[in-house]
Amino acid sequence: MPIERTLSIIKPDATKRNLTGLINAKFEKAGLRIIAQKRLQLTRSMAEKFYEIHKDRPFYNDLVNFMISAPVLVQVLEGNNAVKLNRDVMGATNPDDADEGTIRKEFAKSIEANSVHGSDSLENAQIEISFFFANIELVV
Ligand code: ADP
Ligand code: MG
Repeated sequence: MPIERTLSIIKPDATKRNLTGLINAKFEKAGLRIIAQKRLQLTRSMAEKFYEIHKDRPFYNDLVNFMISAPVLVQVLEGNNAVKLNRDVMGATNPDDADEGTIRKEFAKSIEANSVHGSDSLENAQIEISFFFANIELVV
């Protein structure tokens, strides 16, 4: 299985409730290694740019407001099949549809305030990692 890297964000609903440790434990238990991590207050323009792909969706403005409503933890996770493995650990976008034991099932408050972001492809992972991190910050 290929070793991959993926971009994770622990979202404001989770940082506000002091859940970063419990969520990181889920990643580590699944075999994902946190090789970079920082707590940031996103600016509106950063959040707009990060979610630009969704700019025509009806939830875009609310999503941007949510993402700047409190600090986030941006992270790079590394492991076998990390992109898909992380999506599996996260669970479905809507917590009502998420499997038992997933982060979103256990912690998400709503389809919007769903606790975590994870890259959806290897190509997007590389783009998203470089959005937040320099190579020198990725430490295995
Ligand atoms: P995912 O985060 O699972 O990849 P998407 O890329 O489709 O999901 O959406 C990005 C984020 O936008 C979601 O994680 C969620 O915070 C928000 N979102 C998605 N769909 C909706 C919706 N129907 N209403 C409100 N917010 C949404
Ligand atoms: Mg997505």
